[in-house]
Amino acid sequence: MIVEQIWTGNAYRNFNYLIACPETGEAMAVDPLDHEKCLARAKDRGWQVTQILNTHEHGDHTGGNRAMIAATGAKLLAHANAIGRIDGVDRGLAAGDVIRVGKNVELETLDTPGHTMSHVCMLSRTDTPALFCGDTLFNAGAGNCHNGGHPAELYETFASQLARLPDETLVYPGHDYIANNLQFTLDREPDNARAAELLGDVDNQDPDAALVSNLALEKEVNTFFRLHSPSVISRLREAFPDLPDAPDPKTVFMKLRELRNSW
Ligand SMILES: [Zn+2]
Ligand SMILES: [Zn+2]
Repeated sequence: MIVEQIWTGNAYRNFNYLIACPETGEAMAVDPLDHEKCLARAKDRGWQVTQILNTHEHGDHTGGNRAMIAATGAKLLAHANAIGRIDGVDRGLAAGDVIRVGKNVELETLDTPGHTMSHVCMLSRTDTPALFCGDTLFNAGAGNCHNGGHPAELYETFASQLARLPDETLVYPGHDYIANNLQFTLDREPDNARAAELLGDVDNQDPDAALVSNLALEKEVNTFFRLHSPSVISRLREAFPDLPDAPDPKTVFMKLRELRNSW
């Protein structure tokens, strides 16, 4: 499996992806908003885009579909419940469905509600797994729930699915928000030395050569994975004095999400 992360350079800071089979040159485009950049990269690599995956129904993820399909004839895949919200879906996906790209690339569908209720993440079946996580998980952050999502569902997705993936799983999110998210982590957990160090590394990074994190790193620097951290909890109790001494992780997650909304 070859992964190309494509920085759009737009105001929303979207990342698009190409996932290719090295044997056949067939590729899947993930949320190819900047269809021109995606097509140019595929052409440069000698790949044929045969499938498009939308992680979810928001326009900054689906806006390139029409032009991409017109140029390639690719089939469009998305969460089964996104049919009707996304035009022209050829294949609706459910948890556990396996997508094949070319001869030897396989991606497993994770049904990951929270940012929206029809959001999929794709997990590659490779020695080092790769997670294409749309707007569910960001580097050092979590998706918002303002446009069709629910924070309790997002918590369930984090706790019951994402947190259980192998530590070495590579994280390929739908946006480059890492610097801002690390600043939120440090606001919530000022003594997080790893987050401070990483912020220094990525603050002026070139998004065309962005850091690719893994879940081990996310568990160190992503507040939404640090629900048992004593300093996260004690800072949270300053903002929410009614919180108990030892709040359950779901409550911590929901309160962090609430603070992040207005941060
Ligand atoms: Zn979104
Ligand atoms: Zn988005």
